[in-house]
Amino acid sequence: MRIEKLCVNRLYGDVAGATTRGHKIAVKGGYIYQTFQGGYTLTPLGWSVVRKIENIIRDEMDTVEGQEILMPVVCSADLWRETGRYDAMSVLAKFKGQSGTDYVICPTHEEVVTDYARSVLKSYRQMPFMLYQIQTKFRDELRVRAGLIRTREFIMKDGYSFHETQEDLEKYYKRCFDAYYRLFKRCGLKNVTDVMSSTGDMGGKIAHEFQLINEMGEDTLYICDCGFRANKELEETDSSVCPKCGKPLNKVRGIEIGNIFQLGKKYTESMHMTYTDVNGEEKTPIMGCYGIGVTRVMAAIIEESADDNGPIWNMETAPFAVEVIGLPDKENKTFELAEKIYNDLKKSGIEVLLDNRDNRAGEKFADADLIAAPIRLIVSTKNLANNQIEVKYRVNNFDTSKLPNAIDVNDYLKTTKDLISKLSQH
Ligand SMILES: [Zn+2]
Repeated sequence: MRIEKLCVNRLYGDVAGATTRGHKIAVKGGYIYQTFQGGYTLTPLGWSVVRKIENIIRDEMDTVEGQEILMPVVCSADLWRETGRYDAMSVLAKFKGQSGTDYVICPTHEEVVTDYARSVLKSYRQMPFMLYQIQTKFRDELRVRAGLIRTREFIMKDGYSFHETQEDLEKYYKRCFDAYYRLFKRCGLKNVTDVMSSTGDMGGKIAHEFQLINEMGEDTLYICDCGFRANKELEETDSSVCPKCGKPLNKVRGIEIGNIFQLGKKYTESMHMTYTDVNGEEKTPIMGCYGIGVTRVMAAIIEESADDNGPIWNMETAPFAVEVIGLPDKENKTFELAEKIYNDLKKSGIEVLLDNRDNRAGEKFADADLIAAPIRLIVSTKNLANNQIEVKYRVNNFDTSKLPNAIDVNDYLKTTKDLISKLSQH
């Protein structure tokens, strides 16, 4: 991709209406565009990051034998009436079709997935299984804030597992719990913790939230040195003292990036989902569910890791692995070489951006900070005199102090590949 062709709008002044640093940077860098209050268009840059986060999630869902499906965004009200949530859920957006049918725009998919799962499940031999999707949701929230942190429309990964016994659900729940920590780490999130939470609209008894501890978060968390952690909803008693050890609790802010629930039989019972057990008896399966706010993960990465100049991605989430910058010279030698490097890297399958615009170096570097390719190759007259290309790094959670600051002009392809491979280790 050539930078002048990249269909995004970068801003250089102040961003009106941005409430957090991360929101400001996401808008400045042209990652998101507000289409309406609470609804954003993901630009080529923003969508690229989100797709990469999705692929990390898919990869980790494979490790817990998740099977990916895609359910409808809009659904008839009938399924929601089966569980009683049609009238009980305040954020459920409803509308009437031309034929008079009542529809909902799904804010979550327990009803829809249980309807599919009951059509498939016959025997205990099929369990456990987990179905998940990565899809757009809509919640008719009264208020929205901070860019992608609380929106009305957003992308979510929602998974649902089905089990014969509570013990089996608990075993599987633990595996998903561990997979969540792995995938958030791979996304570059550092300060992630889990807290016990209430189950709210979802039903069931045991639930955990995954929270990024960050001052921009809208949730209040209570954390104790003894390991006790809870969110505000759960903390109904004296919130200054740990209920486990009696010591004073620390109060911190968090951004909720995922949640998991042991749902029990709330949905499977009300929707009459059954199977035949080993003795030939008809039984009701037990259910778990596993959510991740995918677009919110992108927002959380920016909130946590950005500096004043832009976001800082890692190799797995960055829109481009490499940016090649040619700095203007009198004979256009630098532009020629930058072009050649760009083409060679592209041919090798590397995601690379070329900045051969006739702009000042400072402008090019400011844009490079906003796009934040982990590896930046700078072709300048000064370095070419020594047969070298300058290398700069902008990468989340990786010590680059021992990596080279310049590479040999005759060896850029191999060296760049080696650097990508080093920076990809997690
Ligand atoms: Zn304690």
